[in-house]
Amino acid sequence: MNPILSQDQISNINKYQSLGFFHPLTCNNGHILSACDSGLICDICGYTQSWVPNVILDYKHSGVPYHERFLRLATLKKLINKL
Ligand SMILES: [Zn+2]
Repeated sequence: MNPILSQDQISNINKYQSLGFFHPLTCNNGHILSACDSGLICDICGYTQSWVPNVILDYKHSGVPYHERFLRLATLKKLINKL
């Protein structure tokens, strides 16, 4: 089976999943999914998902990985709170 996710995408998705700014992608039992080259998988119940929402995959459009946009947003919020 050909990989459907690149190493960059896998790394990006897994960082997004661990950030906690937004609800992570989960299986039907609420477990947090992790990315591998064949898609998303639940390590606990074995659920697999071969699609990933475009909003998480399209980070290349802005040239900034999705998780970094949120890290920047969080930094900005901290700075604003200090004003
Ligand atoms: Zn599960």
